[in-house]
Amino acid sequence: MRSSAHCDRAAGTAYDVVIIGAGVMGASTAYWLKRIDSSLRIALIERDFSFSRASSSLSASSIRQQFSCPVNIALSQFGIAFLREASTHLSIEGEPVELGLTEPGYLYLANEAQSQALRETHAIQTRHGASVSLLDRGELKASYPWLYLDDIALGSLGLQGEGWFDGPALHQAFLRKALSLGVIKLQADVRTLHGEPGQSAGRRRLRSLVLDDGSEIRSDNYVCAAGAWSGALVRDLAIPLPIHPAARTVFVLSCPTELSDCPLLIDSSGFWLRPEGRFLIAGMPPRDEQHEPDLQADQLTGSRRTDPPLDPDYGALNEDQWARLAHRIPALSAMRIERAWAGYYEMNRFDHNAVIGPIEGFSNFYCLAGFSGHGMQHAPGAGLALSEWMLSGAPKTVDVRALGHERLVNETPLWELNVIG
Ligand SMILES: Cc1cc2nc3c(=O)[nH]c(=O)nc-3n(C[C@H](O)[C@H](O)[C@H](O)COP(=O)(O)OP(=O)(O)OC[C@H]3O[C@@H](n4cnc5c(N)ncnc54)[C@H](O)[C@@H]3O)c2cc1C
Repeated sequence: MRSSAHCDRAAGTAYDVVIIGAGVMGASTAYWLKRIDSSLRIALIERDFSFSRASSSLSASSIRQQFSCPVNIALSQFGIAFLREASTHLSIEGEPVELGLTEPGYLYLANEAQSQALRETHAIQTRHGASVSLLDRGELKASYPWLYLDDIALGSLGLQGEGWFDGPALHQAFLRKALSLGVIKLQADVRTLHGEPGQSAGRRRLRSLVLDDGSEIRSDNYVCAAGAWSGALVRDLAIPLPIHPAARTVFVLSCPTELSDCPLLIDSSGFWLRPEGRFLIAGMPPRDEQHEPDLQADQLTGSRRTDPPLDPDYGALNEDQWARLAHRIPALSAMRIERAWAGYYEMNRFDHNAVIGPIEGFSNFYCLAGFSGHGMQHAPGAGLALSEWMLSGAPKTVDVRALGHERLVNETPLWELNVIG
């Protein structure tokens, strides 16, 4: 890169950086790279600019501080500050960026057996600056009289920086802003990644990309931001990156009784639920092998499996699950399913955490993918961290090195325990 000693620069290439995938991760990275160095020549390649199957347009778009990994807490802290000031960063010609951010908190409910784990993650969260309070059954009853709590021992409520927002609007704002700063968008499906021939292990370079029309694109540096398709994208390069689509259904429910001050609720049985306008939206825990495929089969290599269907799985809200909802919130025994949609979690089967930074063994290939269902809130900080890593050799604003690709090569997982659904 022109301004950086840390990214590769070769003569005669069309771009300094080519980003594969223009979802929220690709768009955020393009924006931050341009913000840091406006002279960079950046192309954003996307096969479907309607984003009909992209996680970024099918997201539940909520933000929490209640993670078990400190690096995820740090990314959420950056994320909430960015969302509150979105117009300052992303407005074009003074037009405000409306994200509808609301911060009623997440409420995790734990039964007796789960309460010790809740206390332990709470200790990590508060040590790392998250404002989270543990509530006993009496306190929960007083705040949420519509909950049935006799089998609940403890709750954990985020007091600040937790809630929900318009994720697709954030995605579009990143994209529009990046384009306004001079990023080039290319509509194409990247089919093959070519390495430089005759390279020794540990010192590899990507040479070019081949697109669906057979044309070849050369750049000095490349970013994999292909979301759930990242594992498939790199499979021919034998890079350990087990990131694959895992379909999740979101149900839109109506309830005749208002649930006052309803936060984003994570039930001890595994479902989540939160208000969305005059409705509620909810997700059920994954229910069978078809929807949560074998983790061993392609643990460390790309999979050739085709994408799972994206029709909503209405069966996920079956009789048992319905009973669990009505058990916790008796008013829901009169609920109706209004509609549902499905999207892919970009599941990193290695440890349910993102992969951010240089891809091990390559000098000009980077990754920002695998957020495993919690990436919308982390996109602002993750895109900045990757951009700093590419331009300066290390992330500066949020230290995301714990999420580096190295851990997949060394087989040292960093498990995020608070993965929802
Ligand atoms: C149902 C659901 C609920 C969620 N809830 C939350 C939540 O509450 N909070 C939260 O923070 N996150 C949530 N997420 C996760 C969040 O939406 C994702 O982490 C985030 O959107 C991932 O963005 P991405 O850019 O990596 O992937 P995507 O948005 O999928 O973008 C990847 C893009 O790459 C393109 N692409 C792939 N391969 C190629 C190729 N070969 N050539 C060209 N283009 C290619 C795709 O077309 C796609 O547009 C949820 C996700 C889902 C599905």
